Order: sequence, then C-alpha cells, then structure tokens
Amino acid sequence: MTTPDAPLRRVVGGATAKALEKSLGLVTVDDLLRHYPRRYAERGELTELSSLVIDQYVTVMAEVQSVTTRPMQARRGSLTEVVISDGRGTMKLTFFKQPYRERELRPGRRGLFSGKVGAYRGARQLTHPDYLLLPEGDEADEADETAEAFANALIPVYPASGKVTSWTIARAVALALHNVDDFPDPIPPDIRIAEGLVSLRDAYELIHKPTSRHDVDIAVKRLRWEEAFVLQTVLAQRSAAARAMPAVARRSTDDGLVAAFDAQLPFTLTAGQVDVGAVLSAELAHDHPMHRLLQGEVGSGKTVVALRAMLAVVDSGGQAALLAPTEVLAQQHLRSITSLLGPLGHRGMLGGAEIGTRVVMLTGSQSTSSRRAALLEVVSGDAGIVIGTHALLQDKVEFHDLGFIVVDEQHRFGVEQRAALAAKSRSDVRPHVLVMTATPIPRTVAMTVFGDLEVSTLSEMPVGRSPIETHVVPALERPTYMGRTWERIVEEVRRGRQAYVVCPQIGDESSSDDVLGTDDDEPGADEKRPPRSVLETVERLRDGPLSDLRVEVMHGRMSADEKDDVMRRFYGGPESPDGIDVLVSTTVIEVGVDVPNATVMVVLDADRFGVSQLHQLRGRVGRGTEPGLCLLVTDVPTESAARSRLEDVASTLDGFALSELDLRNRREGDVLGAVQSGRKSSLRLLSVLRDGDVIADARDRAFALIAEDPDLLRHSPLRDFVASLVDDEHAEFLEKS
Ligand code: ADP
Ligand code: MG
Repeated sequence: MTTPDAPLRRVVGGATAKALEKSLGLVTVDDLLRHYPRRYAERGELTELSSLVIDQYVTVMAEVQSVTTRPMQARRGSLTEVVISDGRGTMKLTFFKQPYRERELRPGRRGLFSGKVGAYRGARQLTHPDYLLLPEGDEADEADETAEAFANALIPVYPASGKVTSWTIARAVALALHNVDDFPDPIPPDIRIAEGLVSLRDAYELIHKPTSRHDVDIAVKRLRWEEAFVLQTVLAQRSAAARAMPAVARRSTDDGLVAAFDAQLPFTLTAGQVDVGAVLSAELAHDHPMHRLLQGEVGSGKTVVALRAMLAVVDSGGQAALLAPTEVLAQQHLRSITSLLGPLGHRGMLGGAEIGTRVVMLTGSQSTSSRRAALLEVVSGDAGIVIGTHALLQDKVEFHDLGFIVVDEQHRFGVEQRAALAAKSRSDVRPHVLVMTATPIPRTVAMTVFGDLEVSTLSEMPVGRSPIETHVVPALERPTYMGRTWERIVEEVRRGRQAYVVCPQIGDESSSDDVLGTDDDEPGADEKRPPRSVLETVERLRDGPLSDLRVEVMHGRMSADEKDDVMRRFYGGPESPDGIDVLVSTTVIEVGVDVPNATVMVVLDADRFGVSQLHQLRGRVGRGTEPGLCLLVTDVPTESAARSRLEDVASTLDGFALSELDLRNRREGDVLGAVQSGRKSSLRLLSVLRDGDVIADARDRAFALIAEDPDLLRHSPLRDFVASLVDDEHAEFLEKS
C-alpha cells in the first residue's frame, strides 16, 4: 500500500513511470489519477472489420485466428503476421522485429486492437497496433483489473501521447487504485455530505472505471465541485489575509467636503450611487483595508461615486490617488473632477472654498517644472487628490499620507502596479483600494478572476441618458449605405453635434484602396485588403464626403501634447473657433472619453473588434440628452459568424449579456489568466463559463470555512492540497520570471 503523493514508480514499473513523467508530466500517483479520461468508448463504437476505412484510427474487438513469424526477405529481423476476425471480417496485424508477439497473440485469444488502418497489397492491416487481450483461463478468475475493465460497458480513452498509450494509462490507473487505500479528501466530510458528493476515492473509481454514464456524471460532479472549492479557498484565504492588514479608518465629517460637495451637486444621485456610496464610506471607516471592485457601464456614474469616497478620505486628513490607464483619461478625470468640485477643488486659491482641497496631476509627459510643483503638493499633503498615470508609481513620488487608491479601468493595470502604489502608503498600514471597471464582468468571472475583491455594481443609468441606436452597415452588399452613413455625420454636425469615426489601425503601415465604400469595391477583394486606417481614412473624408467639416485624427502614436490639443479642441466642439467636428481615431477613445455633444459613431471594419470592445466604444455617443447612433460598417458576408456577432451588438445594450458572449468566443484559459497558472491548479473539469452555480456554491462554503478556520488548522487535507497548489504556482512564476 502506498499514498497518493508517492512517486509513480511505487505502483508501476520504472520504465512506465519514466514514460508517464516524460510524455505527460505525471509524477505522483495523484497526478496520474487526476489524468482523467478524455472520453469513453462504448462497445457500440467499436468498428467492424467489414467496414474499415484506410487512414482511419479504429478500435476493433476480435479474436486471433492465426499467427506466423518468418524472417524478412530484404531486411534483417523477423516479420510477425497475425490474422484476427470478428466473425464478419478478418484483417492482418503486422509486427516487425517483435517475434515475442507470437507468444501473446495465440490463436483463440480475444482482445481490443487499435491503430491506424493501412493497406498492403490491397489488404487492410494494422501495423504495430495497440492491443489489450481479454483474460483467459485461470487468469480470468482472478480479480484482474483489466478483466473488470473489459466487463464494463465503457472503456476510458485517455489523453495519450505517442509513447504512452491510453491502455498503458488505464493499466497504471488500475494499479494505482489498487495500491492506495487512503485518499485524503480536500472537501471536509460534512460539506461533502451536505452537497451530496461522493468521496475522492469513489470519484476516482467512478471516473476511471465507470459501468455507466451515470457513474461518470457522479464522479465529474464531485471533482468539478472540488476544483471550484479549492480555488475559492485560495481566494478566501488571500482576501482574509489582505483584510487582516491594518489600515487607517477614514471617516467623513458632517460639515466636511462630502457634505459640501453633495450640497452643490447639480444632479440627484441615483439610488445605486447612494447605496454604493454608503458601502464605501462604511468600509473606509474600518481599520482594515477595503478591497472592492466597482463595475458599471460607461456613463453609469462611477467617477462621482469614487470622488465622494476620495473626499471622505481627504476629510479625515488623508490623500487619495486616482490611477488612470492613459494620459487622455487622466486628463479627462482631472477636467471632470475639477469641474465637479468647483470652488471645493481650489483651496488657497482665488475663489477657492475654505474647506476645499487641491487636485494635482502627475503624468509622464509633464514639463519638469510643473512636475516638480505637483510633487511638492503631493509630499506636503496640500493636494488631497492626486490624479495620474503610471508616472504615479515612480520612486520619486512621495505622499504625505496616502489613504486611498482608486484604479480606473482595471484591465489595463496589473496586480503589481496596484502593489507598487500600495507601497506608497505609510509603511505600517495599507491603503484602501477601489478598482473601477466599465467592462461588465460576468458574475462567475468576477468570482474567480477578481475573487479576492468584493464587488459592487451600478446597474442603473442616471436619468436623462438617451439610448444608443446601433445598426450594421454591410458596405459591400449595400454600397449606397456608405454614402448615407457619411451624410448622417454631416447632418448631425449641422445640428451642432459631433462624431467619431473609429478604425482598426493607425495606417503608417500601408495604404489601401477604397475607404469610403464607393461602388468600385469588388466583392471578394476584401480578403486581401488591409484594415481601414486612421491616416488614410482622414484623407479620404477630408477630400470627399466630409470636406466641409473639421476632421482631425487621434491615435496612440501621437505625442501627449498633440493628443491633449486634439482632445481640448474636440471638447470645444462646433461652437469653438478651433473646434473639431469629427474625430477619426483608433480605440484610444475606448475608455472613458466623455464628450456629451458627440452623437454619432461610425466604426469601420467593425468585424475586427471584439463584442465588448464595440459596446465600450459606442458608449462614447449618447452621453448627453440627445440619442446616440452607432454604425458598424463591415464587409463580412451576411451568413458569417463575424456578422452575427455584430448583429448581436446591434440588438442589445446589455453589456453583461455581451461580455458573456465575448467570453464564449474566447478560450477559458485566456479568461482565467494569471489566476490559474499552476499545473495542479489548472481547472480540468470546471468551466467558468458554464458552471456559475457550482462556483457560487463552492465560494459560499469556502468563505464560510475560512472565516471559521483561516489557517485550516482543523482541515489538514484541504490545507495540504492548497499548499501544494500554491507551491506549484510559485514554482511556475519563478520559471517565467
Ligand atoms: P462613468 O465613470 O461610470 O463612465 P461618470 O461618473 O463619468 O460615469 O458619469 C458620466 C456622466 O454622467 C458625467 O458627466 C457625470 O457628471 C454624469 N452623472 C453622474 N451621475 C449622475 C446622476 N446621478 N445624474 C445625472 N448625471 C450624472
Ligand atoms: Mg469614467
């Protein structure tokens, strides 16, 4: 008898153990038992010898009729030929230089034979097939694992490799199950029973040696639940550890900045904003750090909520930092926060309120003198609110008392950056952290990828926001629609509105032919056509349908000054002498750009963007009281998958539905990203997309368990399991870095 963590050579021969490790990475008995069958072959799936097709990979059940071995004529060594029959047909098996096969494959023996069907002189044959013989005589009476496997209706088919066949694995698994009597179960027994799950040993028996599909289902149910549970236990521990750190409690006062801010707010907060606000102020008032994710569609009013929380921190004498993924966004936050604060943001300046604070920005492209001035305000504590990009993370930036970090658009900021900023807090405490995202995150992904954060959602849009209408414009099928598209822009600008034209690329790469979809576009020619680009599109529009309008470009390769200038002029709008009517851009405008006067967006080659990205993009229009219009231009044919994705985007404004859809188009691994990297931690049976209920259920159990027993002192099998999983992740991390 041995234990699950023993090396494989304790249960199988040294050569097999070596092969299993080399080709499949299986080291311990447990590794082997967690190498689950990919599928199960049923007797009915076996091929009949009368219906073999060349080059097909088959498994046949047959009886040996005859066997002969003779020396080969042209080469050295022997040739063993075996004729097998299944009662309906016969076929030949050939083995080169393996005369010992003759001893095994005696006439009358039955077995499974599998391999790729070849032909030799017109006859079907298998060369060097894998085979598994049915036990005979005395052997059959023994409690032989192979015999049992054969009696079963289902034959497990394992992910195999050239060196190690599915049958070798099956045999090794049978030996492993036979030789281990105690499987420490990571799921505590009371939870397991309450959830109606079988034990780990039973699950292994059932998944590897099922007698029915039902057996497999029972095993998978338990193993899948375990995967979710172990993952959630890791997250629960992580979250408990973070929360156990000390933080400074930040409380607002009745006559402080928050009160003054609320009193001057030009609109009423939505019920959701009020609720989330209450949650945030309660958490900021704890002496343990807040770790919260705030999600809400573009325009749902997250910034206002975050600003009120920042003001509460300032009220209590601390500072708040707002980290934005791009300069454009940082600029915009500065603008909107300064304007929302009004006099409250100008303490000590002419017209500034007495109880106010100051807002400064730190970005990479700042001039030395303005940067120096900003750094001074940050270190002295004069600036209560510091807005910035990655530049905030640099060593030189020192805070007086950083109490709160807001990270905007999490998907562009890694965990390390959050950590770098957290390190700027006083060394003995951790700052409170709020992460904001406008990309709706499906519940199950939030529970896994962001599983150590609590989640708040703003689901309601502020009143007076008008809906966005979206249409797909098939440029090839309906060439006239293209002309109409540009006319719509002209009309909107005449009404004093503005427009975006979004392209998939910048365009210093190559020039292409027709941008405007005039009639000489040949169907089929689009395959070779490079994507529409900003630079060529702007030329075509200026020279063509938009020649009367002020059209400018915006893309990632412009300098920060150029971008600022363009943004300023676009904000200025049609009224302003140097204003911009139409902005042709890449997706740099995707996140957070807020120009309520822009009402139309045309996306060229829309099929090149992801579903969520398109949704995010169109959030740029319809931010004011005027209805927004988004036109998705594409050349892809009506019947294509790409086209149907675009129709999906056009048919709903529900960002959550779209992000679920987006997820389904991606691989599970991409979704889980860094959370799941270790070998053992990889989710084999659990699908984040499909198993939401399992995850939610396991999460409740895991968090409850950790609340009761944070170090798992009373749950050592689970503790050991989690430890080996975390070790693996750590090892892999070291390998990568
Ligand atoms: P988000 O950051 O979620 O995209 P913002 O906070 O930038 O949204 O809000 C978008 C716009 O809506 C801003 O101009 C903001 O001032 C305004 N706004 C926010 N909350 C409300 C509200 N309750 N009523 C009306 N307008 C609001
Ligand atoms: Mg925003």
